[in-house]
Amino acid sequence: MPDPMIITRFAPSPTGALHFGHAWSAVQAHDRARDQGGRFLLRIEDIDGTRSRADHIAGILADLAWLGLSWDGPVLRQSERASVYQAALDRLHDQGLLYPCFCTRADITARLSAPHAGPDGAVYPGSCRAMAPTERQARITAEPHAWRIDMARAVALAGPLDWVDAQASRVTADPLAHGDVVLARKDAPASYHLAVTVDDAAQGVTDVVRGVDLFAATHVHRLLQALLDLPTPTYHHHALLHDQQGNRLAKRSGAPTLAALRAAGEDGAALAQMVRRGQLPIGIAAITP
Ligand code: GLU
Repeated sequence: MPDPMIITRFAPSPTGALHFGHAWSAVQAHDRARDQGGRFLLRIEDIDGTRSRADHIAGILADLAWLGLSWDGPVLRQSERASVYQAALDRLHDQGLLYPCFCTRADITARLSAPHAGPDGAVYPGSCRAMAPTERQARITAEPHAWRIDMARAVALAGPLDWVDAQASRVTADPLAHGDVVLARKDAPASYHLAVTVDDAAQGVTDVVRGVDLFAATHVHRLLQALLDLPTPTYHHHALLHDQQGNRLAKRSGAPTLAALRAAGEDGAALAQMVRRGQLPIGIAAITP
């Protein structure tokens, strides 16, 4: 029997212009599918309404076309999927796994006398977890709040989990190290963790190709898949591009944008070919931390 069709995706957040590191990632996701006759999808992760911008979305579409990368089907936009995320949250809520969190960033910092570092920064100290039901009810109607997962309870419910990463090595999921992460934000209907997990399943993604900076987050995504009865894709976390100073290419650190290269008349398809051959511009190296 032939293997089921491979489906990959590129899922940028439109909070800035794409740079060479995005081209590197998009080409890998695209080719992994296309080389095996599969589908390559595009998802715009614009769940953060305050930071996402329409001009960046237009730029992403133009950059991909310039690179010669075409995607299949409609572009999925997270900003249009609040009700889908709410259904997932309801399900987790019904399992008794969520609690509202009223803390501000300042509250959390103040509580962390010796911040306990997790794989993705400081771990939430759990201040709102043990709140009395009456106080919780009163505050829910009156105050902005996020929803956090009770990680210890969720892990106990889900049991041991693992996933296959890149060269078929099996990784044991350790979501507990992340603490009670946010699944619905005060200012957005879902957090990155929830939206990305729900959407990869909704789009039928079989192979997630993304930077190794998101490897740690996969521990949380694997847990959410188990709790929501979603399939687990194979993950391919690729190396990240760094400049000569050893800094990761990033919007912030002034890496040249694809839009600038495009405007300068560079040939995007030729650039994509270079990436495929592993030829990176002088001073740029691919590094796995
Ligand atoms: N939207 C994320 C980003 O731009 C990528 C999400 C993912 O690939 O899982 O960094």
